[in-house]
Amino acid sequence: PCVAGCPVNIAIPEFISKVAEGQFEEAYQIIAMSSSLPAVCGRVCPQETQCEGKCTRGIKAGCEAVGIGRLERFVADYHNMHATEKATPVPSNGHKVAVIGSGPAGLTCAGDLAKMGYEVTVFEALHEAGGVLIYGIPAFRLPKDVVAAELDGLRQNNVEFRTNWVGGRTVSVQQLFDEGYKAVFIGVGAGLPQFLGIPGENLIGVFSANEYLTRVNLGRAYDFPNFDTPTYPGKHVTVFGAGNVAMDAARTALRLGAESSTIIYRRSRAEMPARHEEIEHAEEEGVKLFELVGPLHFNASESGVLKSVTLQRMALGEPDASGRRRPMPIEGEVFEHETDLAVVAVGTRSNPILLEATPGLELNKRGYIVVNEETGETSIPNVFAGGDIVTGAATVILAMGAGRKAAQEIAKRLLG
Ligand code: FAD
Ligand code: SF4
Repeated sequence: PCVAGCPVNIAIPEFISKVAEGQFEEAYQIIAMSSSLPAVCGRVCPQETQCEGKCTRGIKAGCEAVGIGRLERFVADYHNMHATEKATPVPSNGHKVAVIGSGPAGLTCAGDLAKMGYEVTVFEALHEAGGVLIYGIPAFRLPKDVVAAELDGLRQNNVEFRTNWVGGRTVSVQQLFDEGYKAVFIGVGAGLPQFLGIPGENLIGVFSANEYLTRVNLGRAYDFPNFDTPTYPGKHVTVFGAGNVAMDAARTALRLGAESSTIIYRRSRAEMPARHEEIEHAEEEGVKLFELVGPLHFNASESGVLKSVTLQRMALGEPDASGRRRPMPIEGEVFEHETDLAVVAVGTRSNPILLEATPGLELNKRGYIVVNEETGETSIPNVFAGGDIVTGAATVILAMGAGRKAAQEIAKRLLG
């Protein structure tokens, strides 16, 4: 059952048998047949709802599931520490493929194609490759050398990275075909932040989680002035939302020296979308959770700087369209919460820059790219897409799976 629970169907019993025999490299080879980022997935996959959620041992009363994710992480780290041989690049088959976006979807597509001899160039808007693995998920959860090792592996396989390159601005998809690329994979994620839409959201001291985390992770704000990007020093930090992004922001604030860090969530703990492990870790570190509370407006000091947020207590009503019980305001239960740094982590949307600059690219009502589910191909022939830009904000493993599916189809299409 655990294999069916894993979105890329890793042969879990087989790799665990190899671990039990002490054959860690063999275990790695089994995992690598299905996953190109095991050191990452072993750390950040929501295992409790995927492989471990289906574990037969875990279903038995009083037993814990096998720690599949932790074993995967160990095996991948063992491989990365002990692999002495550099990958020998596969000779070129003469076909060039462009990948736009360097998150897990783009990296997997690029890696799989490079292993088959395609000349892959990855175009990335930011100055470092890696997508959310680099700019979003903090180093205390996903050490950056783990991601760097994956990128090095791709470079050894002759994948070329062009950073500071914004698809739809620097060059268009059509221009890539004109330059001789035979197929294009779009893996640009869903990185446009959503806001609460309440008064005072433009005050000094209110940030989107994207900006807050990007400043710290990508801009290395924790090491200012050695790095140029400063962070905003909040003493009493309030984070809105209760997904992994919110937990990451709240924990980051404490690590940057905040005296308090509070999560505000309008539903109850049971509905929090973050992984259970992330919620536990946040609480262990001192993050406070205010459940069944929603924000009404931010309040400013005389100089226009955030000083507090007015909150409304909620109760859960009937289920809404998402199937979760709808939060309903409790009349008269309004109070003020002091805060000098607010971080809004209530989700993201697709960024229209590349999409609007690509005529003929079909989008759905929510602004995400429509693809053929079997192949990953978009409405434009030989243009493929996958990851968050197709599904909306999802998970690393699903993005990786989509990159892999598109790579297989591109290979079939170009060389048969
Ligand atoms: P991304 O990782 O978003 O990568 C897209 C890349 O494309 C980015 O580098 C972006 O700069 C680039 N790009 C965008 N537009 C352009 C353009 N026009 N031209 C060129 N490049 C462009 N998932 C989990 O499974 N477990 C977790 O614990 C988890 N925690 C998370 C924590 C945070 C803070 C965040 C933000 C997300 C988290 N996720 C987690 C979600 C997961 O990271 C994403 O689902 C996954 O990274 C999506 O991969 P992707 O390749 O589609 O896009
Ligand atoms: Fe579990 Fe994720 Fe590894 Fe699959 S990739 S076995 S879901 S940790």
